[in-house]
Amino acid sequence: MSSSIRNIAIIAHVDHGKTTLVDGMLKQTGIFRDNQQVDDCFLDSNDLERERGITILAKNTVVDYQGVKINIIDTPGHADFGGEVERVLSMADGVLLLVDAAEGPMPQTRFVLSKAFEHHLVPIVVVNKVDKPDARCSEVLNEVYDLFIELDADEEALNFPVLYGSGRDGWVHTEANLKGEDLEPLFKTILSQIPSPTDDPNGALQFRVTSLEWSDYVGRICIGRVHRGILRVGDTVYRINHEGEKNEVLVRGIYGFRGISRVEVPEVQAGDLCGVYGIEPVKIGDSFTDLEVAERMDVITIDEPTMSIVVRVNDSPFAGRDGKYITSRHLRDRLDKELRTNVAMQVEQGDTPDSFTVSGRGVMHLGFLLENMRREGFEFAVGKPRVIFHEENGKILEPIELLTIDCPKLVSGKIIEIIGDRRGELLSMEKKGNFQRIQFTIPARGLIGVRNRILNASSGEATMNHVFHEYNTHRGEIKGRGVGVLVSMSSGKASSYSLDALKDRGTFFTPSQTGIYEGMIVGENCKERDLVVNLSKEKAANNIRSATKESFTKLQSVRIFGLEDALEYIAEDELVEVTPNSIRMRKRFLKEKERKRDSREKTKT
Ligand code: GDP
Repeated sequence: MSSSIRNIAIIAHVDHGKTTLVDGMLKQTGIFRDNQQVDDCFLDSNDLERERGITILAKNTVVDYQGVKINIIDTPGHADFGGEVERVLSMADGVLLLVDAAEGPMPQTRFVLSKAFEHHLVPIVVVNKVDKPDARCSEVLNEVYDLFIELDADEEALNFPVLYGSGRDGWVHTEANLKGEDLEPLFKTILSQIPSPTDDPNGALQFRVTSLEWSDYVGRICIGRVHRGILRVGDTVYRINHEGEKNEVLVRGIYGFRGISRVEVPEVQAGDLCGVYGIEPVKIGDSFTDLEVAERMDVITIDEPTMSIVVRVNDSPFAGRDGKYITSRHLRDRLDKELRTNVAMQVEQGDTPDSFTVSGRGVMHLGFLLENMRREGFEFAVGKPRVIFHEENGKILEPIELLTIDCPKLVSGKIIEIIGDRRGELLSMEKKGNFQRIQFTIPARGLIGVRNRILNASSGEATMNHVFHEYNTHRGEIKGRGVGVLVSMSSGKASSYSLDALKDRGTFFTPSQTGIYEGMIVGENCKERDLVVNLSKEKAANNIRSATKESFTKLQSVRIFGLEDALEYIAEDELVEVTPNSIRMRKRFLKEKERKRDSREKTKT
């Protein structure tokens, strides 16, 4: 029955051409054209996009090839979302690994691939972008092979079929040096190599919720695979939760996947994927089963968060200047909404009514939410990210990451020193053309703030990637930022006079005429301690000679921070103030007196 279906997860490092290839597959099977117009419109309108979120978040794409429905399941590109990987893969029978013919396999894909092998998914490898002048197909194939062995792929997986091609130009070929016509060889390989689902459509219903989405029209949508039987609209089924408790629920509606959109369908058979709505409450990993044969499927667990931050109401003197949503009520509602679908995230009330502790899978996972909130018009303050420790057999363990840095050979010594300072341990060094690929294990907390240092040390040339590795014993203290900051003692505007007069003190973050307030961080001190400065002083007006001189003063270069940079930069007693138009950093206590009292109290305890 389900020999007319293939379920394949696609794995690719960001920019290796996943979107382009899937577009090509859609085009060549004649689906994309119909939908493209519609989708372009959606992407233009943010509000609409959010309302109809379910339609455009094409995490599942379907192409029809010669009567076979190929479900292409997207996998998250970053292991900060590691839990999602495992869940997504549980819907697939095979994986398509897409690798850039010049860059070769990248560290982020390791994690997803190793999970795919644990699930015994059948791999197909596409060496993509062979049109690039620096393509090195045979080397890259060897690297893929080595990676598979490293990740304990079984014998069968090691016999993976390989295709070479250019997603952009819409072709693949089975031979490395030949140019193909179209994507036919890819479709054929998928049909012949990826097993069709063996799920029994005649058995009693089993469906497992693998991800959750939200629509303002129909509410929560449970995405998953029908593993046995047939799921029908209007049926009453059991929902069985993690504890094994059953309750009767009605299947109000089902979305099937077509191309990049979803359509209401009356039923879905075993082996196929769909979205079910109308069921509340529900959690990831719950099963929907037949009433007579109530056999639940294995529970899927969600990876625990490794990092947390405190999000609080913005109480800076500039609060409310440009945010639309600024109260704790607004923040709570928004965070609650996030929890509906972002299952690896957790939110708890903070130590004051105005603050919330948000935990997630890394600085990126958390930064992504905060950046979205900012764009939606929220305003808030965030504290320094903290790593979440883990207890095992009475021992406190910390999350350790696998870090890969590609850098010019000349700076590799410096890089190793920087990572060593942060309790990183060198695993391997390998030549990649003019670059050196260096691998380390490093505590997750050692990664906070390291990106900037690596970039500075390599004049912006190094790239770094990290994935979760393991929980292990605490590796010891790590030095903080290492330098102090310049803190404003006054409120007003940064003046070019003061910026110039204080230029030897350090680097400033606030260009002339930027609004500043007492307690705001306006620069980095060249010394280790913090320094309070008056940055809004204007030169006395009666000194004509200097006033003229001032207008000739060369503008100081200032350092500008993005949200993630700022999160990585701040110290324990500091906050990042996030508003739709600005990222500012500040001392938690704005007055110097209060800061001194606070640090005295801390040294006492
Ligand atoms: P994704 O991040 O994996 O989804 O990658 P995209 O499909 O967005 O592609 C990333 C970039 O690579 C884009 O600029 C594409 O135009 C380019 N690209 C995609 N496929 C090819 C290809 O086959 N050859 C070349 N030279 N560039 C490609």
